[in-house]
Amino acid sequence: MGKLLEALQKLQTIENQLAEVRRRLKSRSAAVESQQARIAALQADQEALHQTTLARQKQAASVELELKSRETEVTKYRTALNIAKSNKEYATILTHINTIKADNSKLEDEALKVMQAVDAVKLQAQEIKAKLEQAQANLEEIQRTSSAEIARLQGILDDLQAKRDQAAADVPRDQLGVFNRVGSTREGDAMAKIEFHGKKPPYEYVCGGCYMSLTAEHANALRTRDELRFCDNCGRILYLEEEKQQP
Ligand SMILES: [Zn+2]
Repeated sequence: MGKLLEALQKLQTIENQLAEVRRRLKSRSAAVESQQARIAALQADQEALHQTTLARQKQAASVELELKSRETEVTKYRTALNIAKSNKEYATILTHINTIKADNSKLEDEALKVMQAVDAVKLQAQEIKAKLEQAQANLEEIQRTSSAEIARLQGILDDLQAKRDQAAADVPRDQLGVFNRVGSTREGDAMAKIEFHGKKPPYEYVCGGCYMSLTAEHANALRTRDELRFCDNCGRILYLEEEKQQP
């Protein structure tokens, strides 16, 4: 292989390593972010539950107050009952008392339901608290292990970037521009190996980037010339593998 294509291939190899390290760095940060999002969601649930608890407690207090006021009323009627002046008056007061008592029994049922609801919410709050503690512990663990890994990957990334700059310096400016342009349209994958199909000539040629057929012309030219040739389909820069140059 000629000097130009060799330099470009070296550059491509480093670009691929850089992409891999960047991908790993990204997935590390994504793990931390997803745990943080889980914690935020649990905290929102916890806050909503807290508001529900407050509302239920308020409801319970109001039912209790209502019950007390009705009991006071019953006491008042009982006193009146003792000093009733006629049978009719007595009967009227007794009806009042019975009505209030019937209402009170409904209110007591309601109070019981509200108290049960308060207990249910408290139980839910305990569950969320436990989940939140677990999620926070997980986050700390992820952050602890990630920070060492992120520092390690960052070190590799810095080394690779320096190597990439060195490798890029070996490529003439115009060709480097072409390499970068092709790479930007192919997710950093600017080069494609010409693949040979078949055991002996005439071979079938295929682009290793997009797997479409190539004419023999590309392979023939690259056996003797160190130049930029592009896949007619995907536009990647073609190269021949060392052992395939003289098959
Ligand atoms: Zn192609």
